[in-house]
Amino acid sequence: RKSDLQRLSEYLWEIPADYRADMRVPARLYASEALLDEVLHDRSLEQLINVATLPGIQKYAIAMPDIHQGYGFPIGGVAATALPDGVISPGGIGYDINCGVRLLASDLHEDEARPYLEDLATLLYQYCPSGVGRGGHFPLSKKEIERVAVEGARWCLKNGYADEDDLLHTEEGGCIEGADPGAVSKEARDRGREQLGTLGAGNHFLEVDVVRTIYDGAAAAAFGLFEGQVVVQIHCGSRGYGHQIATDYVRAFQSAVHKYGIVLPDRELVCAPLNTPEGRDYLAAMRCGANFAFANRQMLAFQVRRAFEDVFLREGLPWEVRQVYDVAHNIGKIEQYEIDGEQRTVCVHRKGATRAFGPGRPEVPADYRHVGQPVLVPGSMGTASYVLVGTNDAMLHTFGSSCHGAGRHMSRRQARKAIGGNTLREQLEKRGIVVRAGSLRGLSEEAPFAYKDVVEVVDVVEKAGIARKVARLEPLAVIKG
Ligand code: 5GP
Ligand code: MN
Ligand code: MN
Repeated sequence: RKSDLQRLSEYLWEIPADYRADMRVPARLYASEALLDEVLHDRSLEQLINVATLPGIQKYAIAMPDIHQGYGFPIGGVAATALPDGVISPGGIGYDINCGVRLLASDLHEDEARPYLEDLATLLYQYCPSGVGRGGHFPLSKKEIERVAVEGARWCLKNGYADEDDLLHTEEGGCIEGADPGAVSKEARDRGREQLGTLGAGNHFLEVDVVRTIYDGAAAAAFGLFEGQVVVQIHCGSRGYGHQIATDYVRAFQSAVHKYGIVLPDRELVCAPLNTPEGRDYLAAMRCGANFAFANRQMLAFQVRRAFEDVFLREGLPWEVRQVYDVAHNIGKIEQYEIDGEQRTVCVHRKGATRAFGPGRPEVPADYRHVGQPVLVPGSMGTASYVLVGTNDAMLHTFGSSCHGAGRHMSRRQARKAIGGNTLREQLEKRGIVVRAGSLRGLSEEAPFAYKDVVEVVDVVEKAGIARKVARLEPLAVIKG
Protein backbone atom coordinates (compact mmCIF):
# COMPACT_ATOMS: atom_id res chain seq x y z
CA ARG A 1 0.00 0.00 0.00
CA LYS A 2 1.06 3.53 -0.72
CA SER A 3 0.96 4.42 2.97
CA ASP A 4 3.73 1.88 3.61
CA LEU A 5 6.12 3.94 1.50
CA GLN A 6 8.12 6.83 2.87
CA ARG A 7 8.81 9.63 0.46
CA LEU A 8 12.54 10.44 0.62
CA SER A 9 12.39 13.05 -2.14
CA GLU A 10 10.12 13.93 -5.03
CA TYR A 11 11.18 10.88 -7.05
CA LEU A 12 12.40 8.44 -4.42
CA TRP A 13 10.31 6.21 -2.17
CA GLU A 14 11.41 3.79 0.52
CA ILE A 15 9.96 0.79 2.28
CA PRO A 16 11.88 0.66 5.57
CA ALA A 17 13.68 -2.52 6.60
CA ASP A 18 11.35 -3.03 9.56
CA TYR A 19 8.33 -3.32 7.25
CA ARG A 20 8.78 -7.09 7.21
CA ALA A 21 10.77 -9.14 9.70
CA ASP A 22 12.81 -10.92 7.01
CA MET A 23 14.07 -7.78 5.24
CA ARG A 24 17.81 -7.16 5.67
CA VAL A 25 17.82 -3.73 4.01
CA PRO A 26 15.20 -1.17 2.92
CA ALA A 27 13.63 -1.31 -0.55
CA ARG A 28 13.80 1.81 -2.69
CA LEU A 29 11.78 2.84 -5.72
CA TYR A 30 12.48 5.68 -8.12
CA ALA A 31 9.13 6.93 -9.40
CA SER A 32 6.83 9.88 -9.87
CA GLU A 33 3.51 9.78 -8.06
CA ALA A 34 1.73 8.62 -11.24
CA LEU A 35 4.25 5.86 -11.97
CA LEU A 36 4.05 4.71 -8.34
CA ASP A 37 0.30 4.24 -8.69
CA GLU A 38 0.98 1.98 -11.68
CA VAL A 39 3.60 -0.01 -9.82
CA LEU A 40 1.09 -0.80 -7.08
CA HIS A 41 -1.05 -2.68 -9.62
CA ASP A 42 1.17 -5.75 -9.94
CA ARG A 43 3.35 -7.76 -7.54
CA SER A 44 6.56 -5.93 -8.38
CA LEU A 45 6.92 -4.07 -5.04
CA GLU A 46 6.30 -7.27 -3.12
CA GLN A 47 9.01 -8.87 -5.27
CA LEU A 48 11.33 -5.97 -4.45
CA ILE A 49 10.71 -6.51 -0.72
CA ASN A 50 11.53 -10.19 -1.21
CA VAL A 51 14.83 -9.20 -2.85
CA ALA A 52 15.66 -7.15 0.27
CA THR A 53 15.82 -10.43 2.25
CA LEU A 54 18.67 -11.98 0.23
CA PRO A 55 21.81 -12.97 2.14
CA GLY A 56 24.57 -10.40 1.68
CA ILE A 57 22.44 -7.67 0.09
CA GLN A 58 23.97 -4.21 0.52
CA LYS A 59 22.40 -0.79 1.18
CA TYR A 60 18.96 -1.36 -0.39
CA ALA A 61 17.04 -3.29 -3.00
CA ILE A 62 16.47 -0.79 -5.80
CA ALA A 63 13.70 -0.42 -8.38
CA MET A 64 13.79 1.88 -11.39
CA PRO A 65 10.67 3.69 -12.70
CA ASP A 66 10.26 1.08 -15.47
CA ILE A 67 9.79 -1.68 -12.86
CA HIS A 68 7.27 -4.44 -13.52
CA GLN A 69 6.70 -7.98 -12.35
CA GLY A 70 9.25 -10.61 -13.37
CA TYR A 71 10.45 -14.09 -12.43
CA GLY A 72 11.28 -13.77 -8.71
CA PHE A 73 12.90 -10.38 -9.02
CA PRO A 74 11.08 -7.46 -10.60
CA ILE A 75 12.24 -6.31 -14.05
CA GLY A 76 13.78 -2.88 -13.55
CA GLY A 77 15.59 -3.93 -10.38
CA VAL A 78 19.11 -3.64 -8.99
CA ALA A 79 20.53 -5.67 -6.10
CA ALA A 80 24.15 -5.75 -4.93
CA THR A 81 25.33 -8.65 -2.77
CA ALA A 82 28.69 -8.60 -1.02
CA LEU A 83 31.42 -11.13 -1.68
CA PRO A 84 32.55 -13.55 -0.45
CA ASP A 85 29.43 -15.11 1.06
CA GLY A 86 26.60 -13.04 -0.45
CA VAL A 87 24.40 -14.86 -2.97
CA ILE A 88 24.04 -14.79 -6.72
CA SER A 89 20.56 -15.45 -8.10
CA PRO A 90 19.67 -16.33 -11.71
CA GLY A 91 16.27 -14.66 -11.22
CA GLY A 92 18.08 -11.40 -10.47
CA ILE A 93 19.76 -11.49 -13.85
CA GLY A 94 16.93 -12.87 -15.96
CA TYR A 95 16.41 -15.71 -18.41
CA ASP A 96 17.75 -13.67 -21.30
CA ILE A 97 21.30 -13.32 -20.00
CA ASN A 98 22.88 -10.10 -21.29
CA CYS A 99 19.84 -8.93 -23.10
CA GLY A 100 20.94 -5.46 -24.06
CA VAL A 101 20.91 -2.64 -26.55
CA ARG A 102 23.41 -1.58 -29.16
CA LEU A 103 23.25 1.82 -30.85
CA LEU A 104 24.81 2.36 -34.27
CA ALA A 105 25.08 5.75 -35.96
CA SER A 106 25.24 6.61 -39.66
CA ASP A 107 26.16 9.90 -41.29
CA LEU A 108 22.88 9.95 -43.17
CA HIS A 109 20.28 12.63 -42.70
CA GLU A 110 16.67 11.53 -42.26
CA ASP A 111 15.65 13.21 -45.53
CA GLU A 112 18.32 11.34 -47.49
CA ALA A 113 17.27 7.99 -46.05
CA ARG A 114 13.49 8.26 -46.22
CA PRO A 115 13.05 7.17 -49.89
CA TYR A 116 14.97 3.96 -49.15
CA LEU A 117 13.39 2.91 -45.85
CA GLU A 118 11.26 0.15 -47.41
CA ASP A 119 14.29 -1.39 -49.15
CA LEU A 120 16.41 -1.05 -46.05
CA ALA A 121 13.79 -2.67 -43.83
CA THR A 122 13.36 -5.56 -46.26
CA LEU A 123 17.11 -6.24 -46.28
CA LEU A 124 17.43 -5.91 -42.50
CA TYR A 125 14.60 -8.39 -42.09
CA GLN A 126 16.31 -10.75 -44.52
CA TYR A 127 19.80 -10.48 -43.03
CA CYS A 128 18.75 -10.67 -39.37
CA PRO A 129 16.57 -13.76 -38.90
CA SER A 130 13.88 -13.33 -36.27
CA GLY A 131 11.20 -15.45 -34.63
CA VAL A 132 11.26 -18.16 -31.97
CA GLY A 133 14.03 -20.69 -32.42
CA ARG A 134 14.84 -19.70 -36.00
CA GLY A 135 18.41 -20.44 -37.09
CA GLY A 136 20.88 -17.89 -38.32
CA HIS A 137 23.43 -17.40 -41.08
CA PHE A 138 26.39 -18.32 -38.85
CA PRO A 139 26.15 -21.91 -37.59
CA LEU A 140 28.88 -22.81 -35.09
CA SER A 141 30.70 -26.06 -34.47
CA LYS A 142 30.89 -27.39 -30.90
CA LYS A 143 34.41 -26.01 -30.61
CA GLU A 144 33.53 -22.63 -32.04
CA ILE A 145 30.61 -21.95 -29.73
CA GLU A 146 32.95 -22.52 -26.81
CA ARG A 147 35.28 -19.90 -28.25
CA VAL A 148 32.37 -17.49 -28.65
CA ALA A 149 31.44 -18.16 -25.00
CA VAL A 150 34.95 -17.30 -23.82
CA GLU A 151 35.81 -14.50 -26.26
CA GLY A 152 32.47 -12.78 -26.90
CA ALA A 153 32.73 -10.00 -29.49
CA ARG A 154 36.50 -10.61 -29.70
CA TRP A 155 35.66 -13.82 -31.57
CA CYS A 156 33.84 -11.62 -34.09
CA LEU A 157 36.86 -9.35 -34.41
CA LYS A 158 39.15 -12.32 -35.09
CA ASN A 159 36.78 -13.59 -37.75
CA GLY A 160 36.29 -10.31 -39.57
CA TYR A 161 32.82 -9.39 -38.26
CA ALA A 162 33.91 -6.47 -36.08
CA ASP A 163 36.49 -3.74 -35.91
CA GLU A 164 38.54 -2.57 -32.92
CA ASP A 165 36.34 0.48 -32.55
CA ASP A 166 33.23 -1.68 -32.04
CA LEU A 167 34.85 -3.48 -29.13
CA LEU A 168 36.11 -0.26 -27.56
CA HIS A 169 32.50 0.96 -27.59
CA THR A 170 30.99 -2.11 -25.96
CA GLU A 171 30.53 -2.70 -22.23
CA GLU A 172 33.47 -4.86 -21.04
CA GLY A 173 35.00 -4.53 -24.50
CA GLY A 174 32.45 -7.18 -25.55
CA CYS A 175 34.18 -9.90 -23.54
CA ILE A 176 33.75 -10.69 -19.85
CA GLU A 177 36.63 -12.53 -18.20
CA GLY A 178 35.95 -15.67 -16.22
CA ALA A 179 33.58 -17.43 -18.61
CA ASP A 180 33.89 -21.21 -18.40
CA PRO A 181 32.11 -23.31 -21.06
CA GLY A 182 32.68 -26.31 -18.78
CA ALA A 183 29.87 -24.91 -16.59
CA VAL A 184 27.42 -24.85 -19.54
CA SER A 185 25.23 -27.86 -20.36
CA LYS A 186 25.25 -29.69 -23.67
CA GLU A 187 21.61 -28.65 -24.18
CA ALA A 188 22.52 -24.97 -23.90
CA ARG A 189 25.45 -25.41 -26.27
CA ASP A 190 23.30 -27.18 -28.83
CA ARG A 191 20.55 -24.57 -28.65
CA GLY A 192 23.09 -21.80 -29.20
CA ARG A 193 24.93 -23.31 -32.13
CA GLU A 194 22.37 -22.27 -34.75
CA GLN A 195 21.41 -18.95 -33.18
CA LEU A 196 24.33 -16.58 -33.54
CA GLY A 197 23.24 -13.50 -35.48
CA THR A 198 19.53 -13.95 -34.81
CA LEU A 199 17.11 -11.52 -33.24
CA GLY A 200 14.60 -13.79 -31.54
CA ALA A 201 10.95 -13.02 -30.99
CA GLY A 202 8.60 -10.59 -29.35
CA ASN A 203 10.23 -7.78 -27.47
CA HIS A 204 13.48 -8.00 -29.42
CA PHE A 205 13.88 -5.67 -32.34
CA LEU A 206 16.00 -3.86 -34.80
CA GLU A 207 14.98 -0.28 -35.35
CA VAL A 208 16.03 2.53 -37.65
CA ASP A 209 15.54 5.82 -35.80
CA VAL A 210 16.11 9.50 -36.35
CA VAL A 211 17.78 11.66 -33.69
CA ARG A 212 14.93 14.10 -33.15
CA THR A 213 16.26 16.25 -30.29
CA ILE A 214 19.62 16.83 -28.63
CA TYR A 215 19.48 17.88 -24.98
CA ASP A 216 23.15 17.80 -24.02
CA GLY A 217 25.42 19.19 -26.72
CA ALA A 218 28.70 18.15 -25.12
CA ALA A 219 27.67 14.54 -24.53
CA ALA A 220 26.03 14.31 -27.97
CA ALA A 221 29.23 15.58 -29.58
CA ALA A 222 31.26 12.97 -27.68
CA PHE A 223 28.87 10.21 -28.78
CA GLY A 224 28.82 11.57 -32.36
CA LEU A 225 25.09 12.33 -32.44
CA PHE A 226 23.34 15.20 -34.25
CA GLU A 227 19.74 16.20 -34.93
CA GLY A 228 18.25 14.61 -38.06
CA GLN A 229 20.79 11.77 -38.01
CA VAL A 230 19.79 8.21 -38.90
CA VAL A 231 20.75 5.68 -36.21
CA VAL A 232 19.98 2.01 -35.53
CA GLN A 233 19.05 0.28 -32.27
CA ILE A 234 19.57 -3.45 -31.83
CA HIS A 235 17.78 -5.04 -28.85
CA CYS A 236 18.39 -8.71 -28.17
CA GLY A 237 20.30 -11.10 -25.96
CA SER A 238 21.72 -14.60 -25.69
CA ARG A 239 18.80 -16.47 -27.32
CA GLY A 240 18.26 -20.13 -26.44
CA TYR A 241 21.83 -20.42 -25.19
CA GLY A 242 21.38 -18.03 -22.27
CA HIS A 243 17.83 -19.18 -21.65
CA GLN A 244 18.96 -22.76 -21.23
CA ILE A 245 21.79 -21.71 -18.88
CA ALA A 246 19.29 -19.84 -16.70
CA THR A 247 16.87 -22.79 -16.77
CA ASP A 248 19.60 -25.25 -15.80
CA TYR A 249 20.80 -23.20 -12.84
CA VAL A 250 17.36 -22.27 -11.54
CA ARG A 251 16.77 -26.02 -11.32
CA ALA A 252 20.18 -26.82 -9.83
CA PHE A 253 19.90 -24.06 -7.24
CA GLN A 254 16.74 -25.56 -5.68
CA SER A 255 18.98 -28.00 -3.85
CA ALA A 256 21.74 -25.44 -3.23
CA VAL A 257 19.24 -23.37 -1.27
CA HIS A 258 18.65 -26.36 1.06
CA LYS A 259 22.31 -27.29 1.21
CA TYR A 260 23.34 -23.82 2.41
CA GLY A 261 20.34 -23.31 4.67
CA ILE A 262 19.01 -20.23 2.84
CA VAL A 263 15.48 -19.20 3.77
CA LEU A 264 13.57 -17.55 0.92
CA PRO A 265 10.14 -15.87 0.82
CA ASP A 266 9.67 -17.03 -2.78
CA ARG A 267 11.11 -20.12 -4.49
CA GLU A 268 11.76 -18.08 -7.62
CA LEU A 269 14.57 -16.29 -5.77
CA VAL A 270 16.73 -19.43 -5.74
CA CYS A 271 20.37 -18.53 -5.29
CA ALA A 272 23.72 -19.78 -4.03
CA PRO A 273 26.52 -18.05 -2.11
CA LEU A 274 29.22 -16.71 -4.44
CA ASN A 275 31.92 -18.58 -2.52
CA THR A 276 30.44 -22.04 -3.16
CA PRO A 277 31.00 -24.34 -6.17
CA GLU A 278 27.37 -23.80 -7.21
CA GLY A 279 27.65 -20.00 -7.05
CA ARG A 280 30.96 -19.99 -8.91
CA ASP A 281 29.64 -22.33 -11.62
CA TYR A 282 26.61 -20.17 -12.31
CA LEU A 283 28.77 -17.04 -12.45
CA ALA A 284 31.09 -18.74 -14.96
CA ALA A 285 28.16 -20.02 -17.05
CA MET A 286 26.30 -16.70 -16.89
CA ARG A 287 29.45 -15.04 -18.26
CA CYS A 288 29.38 -17.47 -21.21
CA GLY A 289 25.81 -16.38 -21.86
CA ALA A 290 26.85 -12.74 -21.62
CA ASN A 291 29.69 -13.23 -24.10
CA PHE A 292 27.39 -15.08 -26.50
CA ALA A 293 25.03 -12.08 -26.38
CA PHE A 294 27.83 -9.57 -27.06
CA ALA A 295 28.83 -11.69 -30.06
CA ASN A 296 25.21 -12.00 -31.16
CA ARG A 297 24.64 -8.24 -31.22
CA GLN A 298 27.98 -7.84 -32.99
CA MET A 299 26.93 -10.26 -35.75
CA LEU A 300 23.65 -8.37 -36.11
CA ALA A 301 25.61 -5.12 -36.38
CA PHE A 302 27.69 -6.73 -39.13
CA GLN A 303 24.47 -7.60 -40.97
CA VAL A 304 23.10 -4.09 -40.46
CA ARG A 305 26.24 -2.73 -42.10
CA ARG A 306 25.76 -5.05 -45.07
CA ALA A 307 22.22 -3.76 -45.50
CA PHE A 308 23.31 -0.11 -45.32
CA GLU A 309 26.08 -0.76 -47.83
CA ASP A 310 23.70 -2.56 -50.20
CA VAL A 311 21.15 0.26 -50.13
CA PHE A 312 23.18 3.46 -49.85
CA LEU A 313 26.56 2.85 -51.50
CA ARG A 314 25.10 2.61 -55.03
CA GLU A 315 23.15 5.83 -54.41
CA GLY A 316 26.33 7.68 -53.53
CA LEU A 317 25.02 8.30 -50.03
CA PRO A 318 26.91 7.81 -46.75
CA TRP A 319 26.62 4.11 -45.97
CA GLU A 320 29.12 3.61 -43.19
CA VAL A 321 27.79 2.82 -39.73
CA ARG A 322 29.73 3.46 -36.54
CA GLN A 323 29.08 1.94 -33.17
CA VAL A 324 28.02 4.39 -30.46
CA TYR A 325 27.73 1.88 -27.62
CA ASP A 326 26.47 -1.52 -26.51
CA VAL A 327 25.10 -2.08 -22.98
CA ALA A 328 23.78 -5.06 -21.10
CA HIS A 329 20.55 -4.76 -19.14
CA ASN A 330 20.27 -8.33 -17.76
CA ILE A 331 23.53 -9.20 -16.07
CA GLY A 332 25.49 -9.77 -12.86
CA LYS A 333 28.76 -7.85 -12.56
CA ILE A 334 31.49 -7.92 -9.92
CA GLU A 335 32.20 -4.30 -9.00
CA GLN A 336 33.61 -2.25 -6.10
CA TYR A 337 31.77 0.41 -4.11
CA GLU A 338 32.35 2.36 -0.95
CA ILE A 339 29.78 1.09 1.53
CA ASP A 340 29.66 2.13 5.20
CA GLY A 341 33.03 3.81 4.83
CA GLU A 342 34.87 0.82 3.35
CA GLN A 343 35.57 -0.54 -0.13
CA ARG A 344 33.49 -3.63 -0.75
CA THR A 345 33.40 -6.02 -3.68
CA VAL A 346 29.81 -6.81 -4.69
CA CYS A 347 27.90 -8.68 -7.34
CA VAL A 348 25.55 -6.12 -8.88
CA HIS A 349 22.47 -7.86 -10.27
CA ARG A 350 20.98 -5.68 -12.98
CA LYS A 351 17.74 -7.13 -14.27
CA GLY A 352 16.08 -4.78 -16.68
CA ALA A 353 18.52 -2.14 -15.50
CA THR A 354 21.41 -0.53 -17.37
CA ARG A 355 24.86 0.25 -16.10
CA ALA A 356 25.13 4.05 -15.94
CA PHE A 357 28.70 4.83 -14.91
CA GLY A 358 29.54 8.49 -14.50
CA PRO A 359 32.41 10.56 -15.87
CA GLY A 360 35.99 9.65 -15.04
CA ARG A 361 35.44 5.91 -14.63
CA PRO A 362 38.07 3.71 -16.29
CA GLU A 363 35.34 1.34 -17.57
CA VAL A 364 33.92 4.13 -19.76
CA PRO A 365 35.55 4.30 -23.25
CA ALA A 366 38.35 6.89 -23.37
CA ASP A 367 36.54 9.15 -25.86
CA TYR A 368 33.42 9.27 -23.64
CA ARG A 369 35.16 9.37 -20.26
CA HIS A 370 34.82 13.13 -19.77
CA VAL A 371 31.01 12.89 -20.06
CA GLY A 372 30.14 9.39 -18.79
CA GLN A 373 28.74 6.16 -20.17
CA PRO A 374 25.98 6.13 -22.79
CA VAL A 375 22.78 4.64 -21.35
CA LEU A 376 20.44 3.27 -24.03
CA VAL A 377 16.75 3.35 -23.19
CA PRO A 378 14.31 2.04 -25.81
CA GLY A 379 10.69 3.16 -25.41
CA SER A 380 8.45 1.45 -27.97
CA MET A 381 8.12 1.10 -31.74
CA GLY A 382 5.54 3.88 -31.87
CA THR A 383 6.86 6.44 -29.40
CA ALA A 384 10.43 7.45 -28.63
CA SER A 385 13.67 6.07 -27.25
CA TYR A 386 16.39 7.93 -25.37
CA VAL A 387 20.13 8.10 -25.13
CA LEU A 388 21.13 9.10 -21.61
CA VAL A 389 24.49 9.51 -19.92
CA GLY A 390 25.54 8.11 -16.53
CA THR A 391 26.31 10.33 -13.54
CA ASN A 392 28.36 10.37 -10.35
CA ASP A 393 25.13 10.27 -8.35
CA ALA A 394 24.34 6.91 -9.92
CA MET A 395 27.66 5.65 -8.53
CA LEU A 396 26.64 6.84 -5.06
CA HIS A 397 22.99 5.79 -4.96
CA THR A 398 22.16 3.02 -7.46
CA PHE A 399 25.38 1.02 -7.85
CA GLY A 400 25.99 2.86 -11.11
CA SER A 401 22.64 1.87 -12.65
CA SER A 402 19.64 3.39 -14.41
CA CYS A 403 16.44 2.30 -16.14
CA HIS A 404 16.40 0.06 -19.25
CA GLY A 405 13.20 0.97 -21.09
CA ALA A 406 9.69 2.23 -20.59
CA GLY A 407 8.65 -0.98 -18.85
CA ARG A 408 5.48 -2.97 -19.42
CA HIS A 409 2.18 -1.49 -18.46
CA MET A 410 -0.03 -4.26 -19.88
CA SER A 411 0.52 -8.00 -20.06
CA ARG A 412 1.09 -9.53 -23.49
CA ARG A 413 -2.37 -11.05 -23.34
CA GLN A 414 -4.06 -7.76 -22.53
CA ALA A 415 -2.22 -6.08 -25.38
CA ARG A 416 -3.21 -8.83 -27.83
CA LYS A 417 -6.86 -8.40 -26.86
CA ALA A 418 -6.68 -4.63 -27.20
CA ILE A 419 -5.48 -4.48 -30.82
CA GLY A 420 -5.00 -6.73 -33.84
CA GLY A 421 -1.56 -6.96 -35.40
CA ASN A 422 -2.82 -5.76 -38.79
CA THR A 423 -4.56 -2.71 -37.35
CA LEU A 424 -1.46 -1.83 -35.40
CA ARG A 425 0.75 -2.14 -38.46
CA GLU A 426 -1.60 0.10 -40.45
CA GLN A 427 -1.57 2.70 -37.67
CA LEU A 428 2.21 2.74 -37.57
CA GLU A 429 2.58 2.85 -41.36
CA LYS A 430 0.13 5.75 -41.56
CA ARG A 431 2.56 7.60 -39.33
CA GLY A 432 5.41 6.84 -41.71
CA ILE A 433 6.93 4.02 -39.66
CA VAL A 434 7.92 1.03 -41.83
CA VAL A 435 7.13 -2.31 -40.18
CA ARG A 436 8.51 -5.80 -40.85
CA ALA A 437 7.23 -8.44 -38.46
CA GLY A 438 7.44 -12.22 -38.46
CA SER A 439 4.29 -12.57 -36.38
CA LEU A 440 1.35 -10.16 -36.30
CA ARG A 441 0.30 -11.60 -32.98
CA GLY A 442 3.77 -10.86 -31.61
CA LEU A 443 3.48 -7.35 -33.00
CA SER A 444 0.26 -6.62 -31.13
CA GLU A 445 1.85 -7.78 -27.86
CA GLU A 446 4.38 -5.00 -28.36
CA ALA A 447 1.86 -2.24 -29.06
CA PRO A 448 3.14 1.13 -27.87
CA PHE A 449 0.26 1.48 -25.38
CA ALA A 450 1.34 -1.78 -23.71
CA TYR A 451 4.34 0.13 -22.35
CA LYS A 452 4.58 2.93 -19.81
CA ASP A 453 5.26 6.47 -20.93
CA VAL A 454 8.99 6.50 -21.66
CA VAL A 455 9.08 10.30 -21.39
CA GLU A 456 7.94 10.08 -17.79
CA VAL A 457 10.31 7.21 -16.95
CA VAL A 458 13.29 9.10 -18.33
CA ASP A 459 12.15 12.26 -16.57
CA VAL A 460 12.24 10.45 -13.23
CA VAL A 461 15.79 9.13 -13.63
CA GLU A 462 16.97 12.54 -14.80
CA LYS A 463 15.31 14.46 -11.99
CA ALA A 464 16.53 11.90 -9.47
CA GLY A 465 20.02 12.56 -10.85
CA ILE A 466 20.99 9.00 -11.84
CA ALA A 467 21.24 9.72 -15.60
CA ARG A 468 20.89 12.76 -17.86
CA LYS A 469 19.13 13.10 -21.19
CA VAL A 470 21.40 13.37 -24.23
CA ALA A 471 19.15 12.62 -27.21
CA ARG A 472 15.63 11.62 -28.15
CA LEU A 473 15.21 9.07 -30.95
CA GLU A 474 12.05 8.48 -33.00
CA PRO A 475 11.31 5.38 -35.07
CA LEU A 476 11.49 5.30 -38.89
CA ALA A 477 11.46 1.53 -39.44
CA VAL A 478 11.08 -1.38 -37.06
CA ILE A 479 11.93 -5.06 -37.55
CA LYS A 480 10.25 -7.40 -35.06
CA GLY A 481 10.38 -11.15 -34.50
P1 5GP B 1 12.83 -5.79 -22.26
O1 5GP B 1 14.29 -5.98 -22.33
O2 5GP B 1 12.39 -5.56 -20.84
O3 5GP B 1 12.03 -6.80 -22.96
O4 5GP B 1 12.54 -4.47 -23.08
C1 5GP B 1 13.21 -3.27 -22.90
C2 5GP B 1 12.35 -2.12 -23.32
O5 5GP B 1 12.31 -2.01 -24.74
C3 5GP B 1 10.88 -2.20 -22.97
O6 5GP B 1 10.67 -1.83 -21.62
C4 5GP B 1 10.25 -1.22 -23.93
O7 5GP B 1 10.17 0.07 -23.36
C5 5GP B 1 11.21 -1.18 -25.10
N1 5GP B 1 10.67 -1.70 -26.38
C6 5GP B 1 9.99 -2.85 -26.61
N2 5GP B 1 9.73 -3.00 -27.93
C7 5GP B 1 10.27 -1.92 -28.55
C8 5GP B 1 10.37 -1.49 -29.93
O8 5GP B 1 9.90 -2.14 -30.87
N3 5GP B 1 11.03 -0.33 -30.17
C9 5GP B 1 11.59 0.43 -29.18
N4 5GP B 1 12.24 1.55 -29.51
N5 5GP B 1 11.50 0.06 -27.88
C10 5GP B 1 10.87 -1.09 -27.57
MN1 MN C 1 15.95 -6.65 -23.06
MN1 MN D 1 15.66 -10.09 -24.00
